[in-house]
Amino acid sequence: LTVLDKEQLQGLRGIREFLKVRTSYDVLPLSFRLVVLDNDLLIRKSLNILIQNSIVSAPLWDSRNSTFAGLLTSTDYINVIQYYCLYPDEINQVDRFRLCQLRDIEKAIGVLPLETSSVHPMRPLYEACRQMLKTRARRIPLIDCDHETGRQMVLSVLTQYRILKFIAVNNEQHTMLLKKPVRELGMGTYGALATATMASTVLDVIHIMVSQNISAVPIVETDGRLLNVFEAVDVIPCIQDGAYDELSSTVGEALSKRADDFPGIYTCTEEDRLDSIFDTIRKARVHRLIVTDDESRLKGIISLSDVLKYVLEYGEEEDMIRDENIQE
Ligand code: ADP
Repeated sequence: LTVLDKEQLQGLRGIREFLKVRTSYDVLPLSFRLVVLDNDLLIRKSLNILIQNSIVSAPLWDSRNSTFAGLLTSTDYINVIQYYCLYPDEINQVDRFRLCQLRDIEKAIGVLPLETSSVHPMRPLYEACRQMLKTRARRIPLIDCDHETGRQMVLSVLTQYRILKFIAVNNEQHTMLLKKPVRELGMGTYGALATATMASTVLDVIHIMVSQNISAVPIVETDGRLLNVFEAVDVIPCIQDGAYDELSSTVGEALSKRADDFPGIYTCTEEDRLDSIFDTIRKARVHRLIVTDDESRLKGIISLSDVLKYVLEYGEEEDMIRDENIQE
């Protein structure tokens, strides 16, 4: 092992120890707002509420049974769009769907429901991370139980971004040790990337996201230069006010509907190191990094799940052997 390798492992171990001694609760800010939607709400109305509150997801509440009823995410809207594509004559019915019918929509289009895993806020953060990687969930609800009534309580929702930002802010002494270039880490996806162009339709891009099970598609020029990224959350403004026919409009038109405060897309090169990626996460609300070369040609994509997976799993086997040896 080179000095660089040793330091990298030391940094990763430091972060893992940190995740084991902190809880999911620790990630939450001192005060925050949580928008919870009633399961009986019309799907059409839920879109406006998300947009008005500048959020892209919300926990659902079954007020009849006083229970948590799952997370509403952009995947649900993509399912509604798929339903509309299969049954275009039922547009009036689509308009009357309620959130509690999302499971019926999944059945009708033949997709498996996402595993609704949750974690208790006082469990180690490490467990929430593991669970996220296992279920491929991008967010995980923190569910507590009210001592007096014995009822479920949705405390908040943890996202991959919030966890990685929490790591970045509190572990500078560890992240600064992560000096190996991403090219050597095998972190992310390179080569065979799913892409689209500005002239592709929104429906084309949705189809790519569904078939590849990804949440973002880079938009490139014919020569491979990166122009933008279409994200799953970009479908939300596209279908606001039931404008399903606009899904056949182009990516270019759809991206012009982004909110004024859209933070932009983030890129890095294969020479960048994980410490600088953590610097970016510390400073900005980044959801993925697009890897480009010096001529801004698309090379790869590093999603937050790729970073989380690397941070939790790289060299872990050797670590387990080392721990066992120490115990003996
Ligand atoms: P996340 O789970 O963090 O939201 P994504 O859904 O974007 O991430 O990515 C899931 C996996 O697919 C990651 O390993 C990522 O590197 C890969 N990936 C993401 N976008 C693309 C793409 N356009 N083409 C090929 N692979 C991709």
